[in-house]
Amino acid sequence: MKSPKDIDGELGLGTNITRRDFLNATLIGTGGMLLASSTPLMAMAAAPLIKKDAWFGYGAVGDYAGASGNMRSVMEAGHRMRDGKYNSPAMAPADTGEVYDMVIVGGGLSGLSAAHYFKKNAAAGQKCLILENHAIFGGVAKCNEFMVNGKHLVGPQGSNDFGVPSKNSNALPSKLYEELNIPREFEYQTWDPSLKPLAFGLDNYAHMTGVAESLVDIGYYFNKGQGVKSPGFVNNMWRNDLQDAPYPADVKKDLLTWRYYNYTGVRDEAFMRMIDGMTYKDYLEKVLKLSPEVTRYTEPVVGLINGASPDVISAFAANQIGMPGMGRSRGKSGESLSLSFPGGNTTIARYFVKAIIPGAIEGENTFDDISNKHVNFNKLDADGQPVRMRLNSTVIRVAHDGDPGSAQYVNIMYERGGKLYQLKARSVVMASSGAVNRHVIADLPPKHAEAYAQFNHAPALVANIALTNWRFMYKQGITAAQWFGDGFGFSCNIRKQMVTPGDNHAPLHPDQPAVLTFYTGVYTPGLPLKQQVVNARTKILNTTFFDYERQIRRQMLEQFGPYGFRPDRDIAGIILNRWGHARVVQQPGFYYGVNGQPAPREIIMQKYGRIAIGHSELNGHQSWTGAVSQGYRAAGDAFGSI
Ligand SMILES: Cc1cc2nc3c(=O)[nH]c(=O)nc-3n(C[C@H](O)[C@H](O)[C@H](O)COP(=O)(O)OP(=O)(O)OC[C@H]3O[C@@H](n4cnc5c(N)ncnc54)[C@H](O)[C@@H]3O)c2cc1C
Repeated sequence: MKSPKDIDGELGLGTNITRRDFLNATLIGTGGMLLASSTPLMAMAAAPLIKKDAWFGYGAVGDYAGASGNMRSVMEAGHRMRDGKYNSPAMAPADTGEVYDMVIVGGGLSGLSAAHYFKKNAAAGQKCLILENHAIFGGVAKCNEFMVNGKHLVGPQGSNDFGVPSKNSNALPSKLYEELNIPREFEYQTWDPSLKPLAFGLDNYAHMTGVAESLVDIGYYFNKGQGVKSPGFVNNMWRNDLQDAPYPADVKKDLLTWRYYNYTGVRDEAFMRMIDGMTYKDYLEKVLKLSPEVTRYTEPVVGLINGASPDVISAFAANQIGMPGMGRSRGKSGESLSLSFPGGNTTIARYFVKAIIPGAIEGENTFDDISNKHVNFNKLDADGQPVRMRLNSTVIRVAHDGDPGSAQYVNIMYERGGKLYQLKARSVVMASSGAVNRHVIADLPPKHAEAYAQFNHAPALVANIALTNWRFMYKQGITAAQWFGDGFGFSCNIRKQMVTPGDNHAPLHPDQPAVLTFYTGVYTPGLPLKQQVVNARTKILNTTFFDYERQIRRQMLEQFGPYGFRPDRDIAGIILNRWGHARVVQQPGFYYGVNGQPAPREIIMQKYGRIAIGHSELNGHQSWTGAVSQGYRAAGDAFGSI
């Protein structure tokens, strides 16, 4: 029997990755050391070892290196706030003396779009400040960067896919797209025609259940006890209607009914209210009369994108993320590929920053510069500009200076570098989620507080694995994999990257470095929603990086080992992005309300005093379009108080 040490050795757990990651950090930190050293090993030899953080992991490179997922310092400040640790009178904040016309809490896409609204509408001399608790803006729209064998690799930390809004639409995302100067056509990595043809996703969702599975080469891994004699992959099982899948005939029939179900009824508000009033499980099993196996099949993707299992989320929520059964039919003709910028929706956040604080992204307002130039951190909070942004600043108390109906100001207290500060604003946009707002806003009206009591936030994990090569997947004829049951996550993929001329990206080739991305939710079917999200958060916050690393390596070795994968040789870096409150979970009634009462999200959208709340979660399903729509709406509401 192998000893734990031998097993760790086989998994490649040890010093190598530490050295490689430190090498990467060193290379970026010294800007060009990579080019000066004739081999990466030469640079590595000069570098002392860095100690990895047991929770955060090995880190990354580039502007986003210090903020992969929720930073530990941010999480700890958030929990101090939740536990009332800042309420002591002894903790008097220093008054900065500043008065802003608008303060925006949160520098994600909602907050950045609110700042864009402010800048467009402000009179000369009016000022706005964004307070953001992480080391860089973007919220969940951030990226991870690696340097592997001299090539720059990028993967999304969270928000990644988008569709180009139609050009002549009057919808806000379309107008913003034009105003920010975001392109509509893109170049992608090319594929050497001498290699066997492979179909790639262009984002990190296409390969998932019910998304665009027939357009990507996917290996479905079945383990012992899952209908196969020996573990292994079935490739592209949906392309021939599950003929090769190890499911019983009646389950196959129901899965196919689910996938190709063509709802032809009217999709009016009455229908939407009806599906908002029941769980997705009930819709599948009671309305469509499908087997519970179908529900089980949807659990991983629903658990990730809706945040909890199909027995607690509404059928409306599943419809919002495009799950089959209520709207468009999936499969062959019903699928299309969404797009993703190299670092996901990070690029949209950077376009906003370029518009609101032009000097903060170096270079011009071109796709190339926005994608590749560094953030000029000194410019973010520079005096004398209409919009400023203060990073590493956790807002811990927001309250009107007196009665909300008549107060002239809102007082805002925040923690930065272990010290407390206070400033004033004539209007406030809370572009942070309810998980934060219900603790931060001290004079939240009771009806808002009651509405927030119906908000449950689920966590999510996104792991980006830098590979030195991915020949093991090429050999198997796949660019993505899905698996079922235990193990880390449920799927992973290598995408075909959008390229920009200024990026020293790796070519798309099985012998070249690439990022393999895992997205996963944490959910427990059968448990009540509140318990699911609390358990899930406890689990993701209490599991060390090392444990996750081991799970990921084990998962990959089990599946890809037979095709030549060697963790010690093929993995060059691992970054884990933990999102403690990734998404609001939509239980039945979340969107339209129950018993004729207004939906909780509608109550939260009601401005009170000088404070308006605008976060993507108020759209139900969170997306970049929902984020900017809510940010704009809240900014417009708050602007009326200036
Ligand atoms: C894992 C994951 C994957 C996703 N994938 C996609 C996708 O592919 N496509 C898509 O369109 N959408 C996706 N989304 C949805 C995503 O939520 C939106 O696209 C959008 O990025 C959300 O922007 P936001 O500003 O509303 O929220 P957030 O990004 O949550 O921004 C809120 C900001 O407020 C800050 N903040 C919170 N509390 C405080 C405080 N007390 N003081 C100061 N600052 C604070 C936060 O740190 C954060 O920066 C995904 C979400 C997750 C979690």
